[in-house]
Amino acid sequence: MAESKPIFERVAVIGLGLIGGSIGHAAKRAGLAGHIAGYARSGETRARALEVGFIDSAHESAADAVKDADLVILCVPVGALGPVTAEIESSLKKGAILTDAGSVKTAVIRDMGPHVPDGVHFIPGHPIAGTEESGPDAGFAELFDNRWCILTPVPGTDKAATEKLTRFWEGCGANVDVMDSKHHDLVFAIVSHLPHLIAFNIVGTATDLEKVTQSEVIKYAASGFRDFTRLAASDPTMWRDVFLNNKEAVLEMLGRFSEDLASLQRAIRWGDGDMLFDLFTRTRAIRRSIVDAGQDTDVPNFGRDPTHKAPSGKK
Ligand code: NAP
Repeated sequence: MAESKPIFERVAVIGLGLIGGSIGHAAKRAGLAGHIAGYARSGETRARALEVGFIDSAHESAADAVKDADLVILCVPVGALGPVTAEIESSLKKGAILTDAGSVKTAVIRDMGPHVPDGVHFIPGHPIAGTEESGPDAGFAELFDNRWCILTPVPGTDKAATEKLTRFWEGCGANVDVMDSKHHDLVFAIVSHLPHLIAFNIVGTATDLEKVTQSEVIKYAASGFRDFTRLAASDPTMWRDVFLNNKEAVLEMLGRFSEDLASLQRAIRWGDGDMLFDLFTRTRAIRRSIVDAGQDTDVPNFGRDPTHKAPSGKK
C-alpha cells in the first residue's frame, strides 16, 4: 500500500463528497499523488475540502482543475458525468488518464465517451465501497481498504494506462477487477441496486401505513426495519441517477425478484413450511461466505454497540 514515489504527479478530483474525499485521503495516506487539485459545484464544498486537507488546491471550474493533471477522477453523480466531461474536454492533457467512480458503467461510457479527446485514456471505474453519508466531511482514508474496485476499459484501451490506474487503486487499499461494462451493470443490479430499491420501498411503505403508526415503526425498528433504513438513507440524487441509468439490468433483476417473491407469498398462504425453511437455511449460509471473504465483520449484529451509542471513530 505505501508507495515511495507518487504514481501520478498531478491528480484532479472532480466532486468532493464521500468518494472524491476518500480518494483524496487514501491517495495522501500512501503518497500516490504529487499534487491533488479539486473541484466541486459549490464554493462551500471546495473551501471545506481544502480545510479538511484531502486536496492541495481548489479551483473555480472543473476545466481549471484538470489542467496538467495526469489522472482525472470524476466523482459526481452519474447523471452529471456527461456534462462535466463536456466541460473539461478541451482542458485535458494529452496522455492523461480519465476515469470516474460512477455506480453504473454502460450509460457512463455512452455519456462520457463522445467527449473524450484523442490521446486521453478513458478507463471507467467503480469502487465497491461506500456509506450512507455524503459531502466533504464524509470521506476517510480507509474506505477502500480490502474492498474491490471494478474497471471497465473499452476495447482498444492502452494496457499500460489500465495497469497504472490499477496501481493507483491498489495504493488506495483496493483490489482491482476488470470486466465488461454490461456484465458490471448486471452484477451490480442484483448486489447493490435491487437491495437499495427494496430498502427505499420497504421504508416508504412502512412510513405510509395508516393502521400501524409511524411512531410504532420507529419505536420497534430494532426488530429488522432499521437494517433497511441504513440503505434507504443513501443520497437521493445518486440513487435517482443509478436507477435512471441502469434501467434494463434493474428491470431484469426486478422481474426475477418479483417471481421469487410471489412463490414465497404462495408458500406462506399454503403453509409450506419446508419451502420457507429450505430457503432461509440457504440464505443464512450466504452471510457466512461474505464474512469468510473478508467483506464484513462476524461480530454479532454488524458490530453495533449494544448501548446504542455511536461507535467511536467513523460510522
Ligand atoms: P456526494 O458525497 O454527494 O458528492 C458528490 C460531489 O459531486 C459533491 O462534491 C458535489 O458538489 C459534486 N457535484 C454534484 N453535482 C455536480 C455537478 N453537476 N457538477 C459538478 N459537481 C457536482 O456523492 P458520492 O457518494 O461521493 O458519489 C459520487 C459518485 O460515486 C457517484 O457517481 C456515485 O454513483 C459513485 N459511488 C458512490 C458510492 C456511495 O456509496 N456513495 C459508492 C461507489 C460509487 P457540491 O457538494 O458542491 O454539491
